[in-house]
Amino acid sequence: MPDIRIILVRPQHPGNIGACARAMKNMGLKNLVLVAPQCFLAEEAVARAAGADDILAGATVVADVRAAVADCVFVAATSARARTIAWPRLEPRGAAATLCAQARSGPVGLLFGAERTGLTNEEVDYAHALVQIPVDPGFASLNLAAAVQILCYEVRCAVQEPVPVPESDHRPAPQEAFNRFLEHLEQVITDIGFLNTHHPRKLMRRLTRLFRRAQPDDNELQILRGILNAVQNPYPAQKGPPDSDNT
Ligand code: SAH
Repeated sequence: MPDIRIILVRPQHPGNIGACARAMKNMGLKNLVLVAPQCFLAEEAVARAAGADDILAGATVVADVRAAVADCVFVAATSARARTIAWPRLEPRGAAATLCAQARSGPVGLLFGAERTGLTNEEVDYAHALVQIPVDPGFASLNLAAAVQILCYEVRCAVQEPVPVPESDHRPAPQEAFNRFLEHLEQVITDIGFLNTHHPRKLMRRLTRLFRRAQPDDNELQILRGILNAVQNPYPAQKGPPDSDNT
């Protein structure tokens, strides 16, 4: 199975965590990450895992979404709600195919929100795409473990009948390097007065979406960071960085 990480963000009910572990194991997925869980892995979690307690025992606990996806090359976020932010959308089948294809380059993450509140927009900002399971619009919110089950099932189907994807040697950089680039970009456009500090998120969200779409590799990020460094400490005109042809 591909390295697809199921990431539960601030889960509230131990029973749901157990049921998610069971849903994963049924479909052959193993990597469970809990972001700031709001409950302990109580007996109820083990009971609802119904034999998938190895998935619970192997779960990683991290403090925030950024840490959960630090080494991922691709991240998708699930949402019951339509969001006002225009993030690229995927339906579950397309999402599963994309996750499997991206997993050829490195770990990929699938984010699920807390039972009551779902993911915040800031958490969705860490994703390349938003996944919505089509449901009755009058009653759109699935139980967390039911949503995990549907996506894990689609991943299993995608593994069994892979959609042909053109071979590529493009290796996107891990998200932590990408997120450090975004911080650097935000700093520079703030310093040069381009970022309107009253609406910083809107511009940063658009820039995040633009650069995430490109999935830059390590080398491309280095070039972008080099440009930002040069904005902060300009080189003499026409000279370029020392000992480099900028490629
Ligand atoms: N009240 C929350 C719903 C939380 S349900 C809200 O309005 O966002 C818990 C989680 O299950 C969601 O954050 C999402 O990760 C997943 N989920 C539930 N229904 C879904 C749907 N129709 N499509 C995709 N994910 C869904």
